[in-house]
Order: sequence, then C-alpha cells, then structure tokens
Amino acid sequence: MSHRTLPTVFTLTRRERSGQDCIWCGHALSAGAVPAGIAVGYWGSHNRSTQVYACPGHPNGLTEETQ
Ligand SMILES: [Zn+2]
Repeated sequence: MSHRTLPTVFTLTRRERSGQDCIWCGHALSAGAVPAGIAVGYWGSHNRSTQVYACPGHPNGLTEETQ
C-alpha cells in the first residue's frame, strides 16, 4: 500500500490544521473531503496531533493517482 508520509502539524497552515484546506495541495475543501490521517505534533508535553483532510482524488497524497 503506497502512502505518503503525513506532515507534522507544525508544517501545516492554520486552515489545513482545521480541515478547511487539503493538506497535500492546499485546495479549499468545500465538500467531499476525505480523512487523510492524523498529523502528529507535540508541543512540550501537549499532544497537538489532529485529524487532517484531503481532496477525494488523493487522500494519500499521491497526486498522480488523482482521478
Ligand atoms: Zn488536494
């Protein structure tokens, strides 16, 4: 199973962290966003890991598989 490594929460924009933008291409997700996984991040002892979303065409970040 091919799968691109998710970025950490600290490399994401605020909109990407809040699920408003695709984490792979930055496109605004208005409808049909799919869960891309958990972006991991720790701030000291605080776990800031969060669910992130992507376009339906490349949930794993593999743009060449966009349909
Ligand atoms: Zn995208």
